[in-house]
Amino acid sequence: MATADFDAYSSAGSVVEIDVAPEDWPVAHRHGEPLSQNDRFSAAVENMSHGLCMFDAEERMIICNGHYIDIFRLSPAVMKPGIAFIDILRHSVEVGIASHTAEELYAIRKPFIARAQPSNYEEILADGRIINISHRPLGVGGWVSIYEDITEQRRAETDLREQHRRFDAALANMSQGLLMYDADKRLIVRNERFLELYGISATDVSLGMTHRQVFDRLVELGLYRDIDGDIDIPAAEARLQTGLMVALQRHLTDGRTFEINHRPMSGGGWVATFDDVTERRRVEERMIHLAHHDPLTNLPNRSVFREKLDHAIAAAQPAGGSFAILSLDLDRFKAINDTWGHPAGDWLLKSVAERLLRCLRGETDVVARFGGDEFAILQLGLNTPADAERLARRIVDAVSKPYKNDSCEMRVGISIGIALSSLDGEDVDTLLKNADMALYRAKHEGRNIYRFFEPGMDARVRERRALEADLRRALARREFALHFQPILDIAAGEIVCFEALLRWNSPERGQIPPDVFISVAEETKLIVPLGEWALRKACMTAAGWPAHLRVAVNVSAVQIRSGTFPRTVVSALAHSRLPANRLELEITETVLMDESDVVVTTLRQLRDLGVRIALDDFGTGYSSLGYLRRFPVDKIKIDHSFVSDIDQRDTAAIVRAILGLGAQLGITVTAEGVETETQLDILRKEGCVEAQGHLVGLPMNNADLRQALKQISQSRRFG
Ligand code: C2E
Ligand code: MG
Ligand code: MG
Repeated sequence: MATADFDAYSSAGSVVEIDVAPEDWPVAHRHGEPLSQNDRFSAAVENMSHGLCMFDAEERMIICNGHYIDIFRLSPAVMKPGIAFIDILRHSVEVGIASHTAEELYAIRKPFIARAQPSNYEEILADGRIINISHRPLGVGGWVSIYEDITEQRRAETDLREQHRRFDAALANMSQGLLMYDADKRLIVRNERFLELYGISATDVSLGMTHRQVFDRLVELGLYRDIDGDIDIPAAEARLQTGLMVALQRHLTDGRTFEINHRPMSGGGWVATFDDVTERRRVEERMIHLAHHDPLTNLPNRSVFREKLDHAIAAAQPAGGSFAILSLDLDRFKAINDTWGHPAGDWLLKSVAERLLRCLRGETDVVARFGGDEFAILQLGLNTPADAERLARRIVDAVSKPYKNDSCEMRVGISIGIALSSLDGEDVDTLLKNADMALYRAKHEGRNIYRFFEPGMDARVRERRALEADLRRALARREFALHFQPILDIAAGEIVCFEALLRWNSPERGQIPPDVFISVAEETKLIVPLGEWALRKACMTAAGWPAHLRVAVNVSAVQIRSGTFPRTVVSALAHSRLPANRLELEITETVLMDESDVVVTTLRQLRDLGVRIALDDFGTGYSSLGYLRRFPVDKIKIDHSFVSDIDQRDTAAIVRAILGLGAQLGITVTAEGVETETQLDILRKEGCVEAQGHLVGLPMNNADLRQALKQISQSRRFG
């Protein structure tokens, strides 16, 4: 602009045509007089927005304006027309505005002034201001200088440059990729990170490309798959045009996932940022997976199972597709944990899960772990109930095969309850409950089997639960009693022992035989306190008997496995002051078959106490004699089923073999259930040591026992 102004009057030739001596040129217009050409010139110069100073061929000032004086902080009194250029410079040094000496300034400016061409240069004043000086030679010699304070302009430029630098640095250092589009959807900014993220070069996606072209280019480069740009891009652009954000995730062909956020800008256009969220998504997916799966087996958990079951019910309703729910529970899994330890138990659970998965036919069928050793299966697309039965059989077979790893071979069974859709319930809870009911039944009918739900089952289960509840209360309410059944030394013809037998007198239910409640007590672990009560009571009672009489107490496998049993025995003996050799503990074969550390240690400790161990109901279980070698017992009790059939040849042979074995191993053999003299005669002849049964005496209550003890004492005294 300064140049334009100057050109205007320079080209008009007004300066050169002035014939007034320079000293007569007015610095300012005098008020009230008509405007002469000079006045007009002065007014124009004075009103210029820049500083101006004109010099003649002798380097003397012809004219200058107020701006010039202001810029250089000069004194108007000094700045009179005719002052030499060098003196102005000296004056500027005097006022302290110059950043050089007058001579240096002169030397700097002179070459510019001397040029025949207009020239331009910048001078920095002592106070930091930047002044742009343009020189124009005049036709008659001399020159005109125009001064402009460009400090602000320079600062703004520097600020802008700094802003750019920062913006560039921010763009370059962003962890996100960034693209900026203008209102015409053309790319105007793109950072390095964007190229890095996509693994492409600047030429692949260049500034000026449209949003659509950028997208198509990425597809062309094989980075995206299965995205329809014809739908995606216009939809995103339309949304942005209405000022809304667009956030989306794109899956790259290399497996990565980018999160892309488009934010509209106020002046039109938008900024798109690109984030690699692959790892974050993986973590999120893992979290979701964990929330829905059992971490040990990786099977879906109960909540997922219920959800799938919900879907199956919804799908079954209109279409009528049938399905089955199988409720599964491992048999004696706790023994595995106790015997082999928890890591082995975990390994077994994982192996069971794998086998269950392999048993499934349908891709859509679901196996879930509900926790512990509980599993559930949703079998879809059922044609007949036989399909569920076949699956159950496959599972029982598969799961019961041995599990071998480096250190051990384990076996476990599985019980299964089956409920069928529509038949056994309309909703999730009923179906699951009924499958459980059927499982409960399977557990009671032998384990390692499956059972379908049947109406009425729940009534039986309720009844059993009620029994459990009553049993829990019975101990506190002192509803139990012990009866004692005598055991005869056959050769001596005298009673040597009494077996303590539990009786439950329930006020509501009447007399309940042990065969009914012992199994329930074992399952609920109530047998532990109940058995302890029986042991203490038996010891206390026996302590009052003649010293040659022993007492036999039945002990459940559950008590032995509890690990605390030897302490209970020590305490019962100490409390009653009954010598240990007067106590016999009757265990069953299942105890000896369990070779876990707890059982072996417990039996050792008991024998070390001096307590006798009797093997009860011999012949009814596995009757593998191998364990007798591993763990010697003091006594074998032949089950009454052998005694009642003793007149048959085969049975007689078995009884004879057992008696022979007992004699060889030095083990006392007792025959149970002896009811007739004939049976007793045969047993006596075969060398059986002891007999127990109705012939010898029925289990007796307290009164009968006192009577019997009196007789025993008398016959001993007088016999
Ligand atoms: P067990 O230990 O074999 O006890 C012998 C069972 O045979 C008793 O039945 C007894 O009454 C019965 N019995 C005795 N003589 C004869 C006979 O001549 N003929 C016949 N047919 N039976 C006879 P009970 O008292 O009903 O006990 C049944 C089972 O309950 C016991 O069998 C024992 O296994 C269990 N039991 C009883 N009391 C306890 C206890 O305190 N703790 C544990 N864990 N189990 C117990
Ligand atoms: Mg017994
Ligand atoms: Mg028995």
